[in-house]
Formats: sequence, C-alpha cells, structure tokens
Amino acid sequence: MNKQKKNYIIIPIITSILSLGILLFSSVNFNTKNNKSYNTFKSDLELNQVLKVALSNNPYMTIYLKDGTSYKTDNPNSPTLKEELLSKNISINENNNINVTKTFAGLLLLGSIITLVFMSTNKSKGMSSATSIELTDFSEDSSKALSFKDVAGNEEAKESLKEIVDFLSNPEKYKSYGARMPKGVILYGDPGTGKTLLAKAVAGEAKVPFYALSGSDFVQVYVGVGAARIRNLFKKARSHGKAVIFIDEIDAIGKNRDGGKTAGGNDERDQTLNALLTEMSGFGESEGVIVMAATNRLDILDQALLRPGRFDRHIEVALPDVSAREKIINLHLSNKPHIDLNIKDIAKKTSYFSGAKLENLINEAAILAAKDNSECITETHIDKAYSIVLAGHEKLERSHLKASDLLLTSYHEVGHALTSLLLLPEDEVSKISIIPTTKGAGGYTLTIPEDTNYQRADYLKKKIMVMLGGRAAEEIIFGKEKITTGASSDLNNATNIAMGMISEYGMGETLGLLKLSSLGSMASGYSTKVIEECKDLINSLYDDTLKLLNNNKELLEKFSIELLEKETLKKEEIDIWKKLC
Ligand code: ADP
Ligand code: ZN
Repeated sequence: MNKQKKNYIIIPIITSILSLGILLFSSVNFNTKNNKSYNTFKSDLELNQVLKVALSNNPYMTIYLKDGTSYKTDNPNSPTLKEELLSKNISINENNNINVTKTFAGLLLLGSIITLVFMSTNKSKGMSSATSIELTDFSEDSSKALSFKDVAGNEEAKESLKEIVDFLSNPEKYKSYGARMPKGVILYGDPGTGKTLLAKAVAGEAKVPFYALSGSDFVQVYVGVGAARIRNLFKKARSHGKAVIFIDEIDAIGKNRDGGKTAGGNDERDQTLNALLTEMSGFGESEGVIVMAATNRLDILDQALLRPGRFDRHIEVALPDVSAREKIINLHLSNKPHIDLNIKDIAKKTSYFSGAKLENLINEAAILAAKDNSECITETHIDKAYSIVLAGHEKLERSHLKASDLLLTSYHEVGHALTSLLLLPEDEVSKISIIPTTKGAGGYTLTIPEDTNYQRADYLKKKIMVMLGGRAAEEIIFGKEKITTGASSDLNNATNIAMGMISEYGMGETLGLLKLSSLGSMASGYSTKVIEECKDLINSLYDDTLKLLNNNKELLEKFSIELLEKETLKKEEIDIWKKLC
C-alpha cells in the first residue's frame, strides 16, 4: 500500500517539472530569440522589406520579412505605428489573447503542486499510524486462520508452541498454579523454514489477533520513529486483550551491540530496542499477549534481549529432513492435481531445501503443467521445475550464443561435474547444462549433496575443489591467459566455505578452536592472518584440482564434447561417465 503511493507520487512530480520546463522555455523563447533593435525595424520598413507584423499586448512584436526571416523588436504601443503599417500595405496580426501554452503550463503546474501537497500530507498521516503493521485478526474470521496442520514437519517446534497456545487460551489456569509463562519466544533457523508460518499458526490455534512487523522496517528511519512504531504496535495489540505480536528479522534491531562489525553506536536502533524491552516488561504475565520474533541467527542477538522476562524461550526451526520434506511436499500437492509422482524420490532429491523452496518447486511445477494444458502435474514438470528453482529459467532467446562461449561453458561445467564425480561419488550429479539461465549463469551443474547433519572437514575441502573445478578446467584447456569471469560466483562460494572452516568451525590454524564471531572487537588484529590462511587454503586446493583434472584430461575433453553436442546431460547420461572415473 505504501509502495503504491510512492509510485503514484512520481506523476505530479513529473508533470510539475514538465510544466515548469514549458513555462521557462516559452518565456525564454519569447524574450531573447532573434531580437533586433527598433531602428533595424525602421530601416526594414523604409526599404519595404516587411511582409507582416504580429502585434500583441506584450512588450514585443514579431516582424516577418519578405525574405522569409523574422525577428522580434520592441513594441512602441503607438496607434500611429498601426496606421503607418496599414498605409504601407503591411498586414497586421493582432493577438491580444494571453499565450495559450503558457496558461496551460501554469495551470498544470498549479494542479501538480496541489496534488503533491495533498499526497505528501496523506502519506505522513499513514506513517504516523504505522501502516507497516500487518494485522490479521483470527478471532474474527476463523476461516482464514492457520493451524498447526498447515505446518508440515517441525515437530519439536510445534510441540513447544502448543504450550504457548494453551497459555494464550487460558492464562488464568497458569496463573493459578503460579507458573510464569514466557513473554517472548524467539524462533531461529534458516530463511524459509516456516517461522512466520508457525507464529501465524499459534495465533490461529489460539484464535487471537496476529500483529506482525519486520525489523528491517526500522532500518534507516528517523530517530524516534522506530520506537514510536513499537509503542504503537503494543498499544494496538493490548487494546485487544489477547494477541500474538510477531517481529520478523529481529536481528535488524537487536544485533549484538559490541559485535565486531557494528562498532560505534546507532542511536535509532538502540532506541527501538529499548522501546521494545520497555514494552515487554510493561505488561503483566497474565495479560495473554505473547511476543514472537524470528531470526536466522540466534548468536548475533544482543544478550539483553535473551534475558528472563524477555525472549527467554528459544525454539529452533531447522531445515527439514527427508521425512519432513516428504510431508511438506505432500501438503503443498494436496490441493493440486498430480499423477504418478514418486514423492519419496522428490524428497530425497531435495536435501537442504527449505519449506519455502519446496513450496516454490511445487508451484513452478504447477505453472508448467498449466502452461502445457496438462491435466495433472507429472514427473516431467517436477524435473523441469527443479532446474528452474536451482538455476533459474532457461533463456529462450539463444540464437545470439557464440559457439566459442558454448565451448568454454561446457569445459567449465564439466570441470565442476568431473571433480565432483571423482572426489565425492556419494554426492549425485543430477544434471549439467550449457544453456544460460535468467539468473545470469552461463550454464549450470546440479548436484544433490549427501544428506547429513554434519559436514566433515575433508568433505568441505573437496566441496571447495568442486567449486574451483570450473576455473581449473578453463585454465587447463585454454591457458592461464584465457580464463574468464564465469567463475565469479564459484569463487564466492569457495571463499565462504573456506572462511567458515577457519573462522567458525575450528578447522584452521590461526584461530585454532576460537570462533571469530565470539571474539567481537578483539578479533580485529587477527583478520589479516585469517584472510592469509584462507587464501593459502584455497590456493593449495586449486593446485590439487588442477592436478586432478590434468590427470583426467582425456575424460574432461570427451565428456565436454558430449555436453557441447547435447547441451544438457541428464542423470542417466552422467552415470555412464561416472563409471569411467
Ligand atoms: P520464514 O519465516 O522461516 O522465513 P516462512 O514461514 O515465511 O519462512 O515460509 C515461507 C513459505 O514456505 C510458507 O508460506 C509456506 O508456504 C512454506 N513453508 C515453509 N515451511 C513450511 C512447512 N514446514 N510446512 C509447510 N509449508 C512451509
Ligand atoms: Zn562454475
């Protein structure tokens, strides 16, 4: 709603600039262009050069000569001039109307300014009443209410939240036992794992209104606005009696104050955070208001938020495992026609997919089925959707592709695939393609990683080698001078893993078992050494990758040629190469 208003405000801004432009242009044009002195006009008159004179009630008149040129000169405004002209058979054009263009532009400008003023006052009114608060009142319309049935998997999280629902439904019961119920619950876990969904389900199950706000709404607002919004939110919620208040991305306001990167104060964030803490300690335990917050990372939150009486209940919402994925897929397929789908197999192929990504997968498949006018979603639609979700849509316009680009891409992608087949046979390479995608990749290699909770250090190193395999293949086949920018996102991923190993997982030398993020500002002296170590690790893994692919150069070449011919290789075709490794 707010966004739309922002877009519309552009219109009066543009019209006012335009009309101002027209006004300026027309008056400039009127006053200065081709001006000549009155004496020139007089001599032209004498020499019988004048064809026509345009008179108006402004201080200039326009003289048209017989040779086709024209100029402006001062208008003496004397009746004798008219007489003289008429007697010389010179025609007169009298135009006493006010300039039409000017009037129109003036009116337009006035109108735009009025609209602008109107719109901006309207907008600030909206701001002060905090339009960014999303309210869904499940107590009034129970048909829209979400329940725990709408959340598949996440069994542990749902179990702890059932308690909260019970508390919201009868707070008096808990009070009579003298039990102190949590005021705040933090749901933490990867994006798209269903945190918002769970919070909505709690409100739905308890049949109370759901008030939601996102921490990112507070970033870069004026000092004081954030705090006011928080107070406003709580006031509204409490006026209802019972409610669930949900704050998404709480880390935007509740980030650790002395954590490494955020040194130096941020008044606005502190004020907002303080307002939140004050509001939370302001209401009694039996009021039936519960504040739920979501974050991707619990460890970066300010300790003040996590103390008893604040967000003292922490619930992990993890990425779904195979059986949870199966449930989520089934849930999202339940309202869509489908046939012959091996759901167990889809669940297996989607390790590390979040609930949101699974929902996206099923939705893309449904769109493809609708496009095909197919009666049902089939295996083919799921397969296609799988590539779309992981790599983006394939570009339809492919005629511009240069043969040399395709050749390079096929070596690059086979570099990844071959390294993976050689080093990580338990990870499955499910598709390789040299068709560019709308996400900007020249081609892509899809692998299905082994489904485990922990990743061993040697696995991570091999994973880095797979990421470097693309660049290594380019260098082996085309030479060091011909390497391309195509490896940019690979290098990004490799750097992230290597940095994680050294700074977060205690797998490096510089920090040993210390965790960089726990050191806060004390870590500053170490950053150069950590980067050095990361660089050494990646360089030595790159050398290993070069060696590995050089030893299998024949395989690399033949494999790439097949990819170049077929453009896309499926699992069955890749498996043949796997046997040759
Ligand atoms: P988060 O708040 O953790 O980022 P959301 O709750 O916004 O994630 O999830 C986004 C969407 O993904 C949901 O609307 C839902 O369609 C789907 N989704 C995520 N997790 C689940 C789940 N466990 N069961 C069913 N759908 C899910
Ligand atoms: Zn690559």
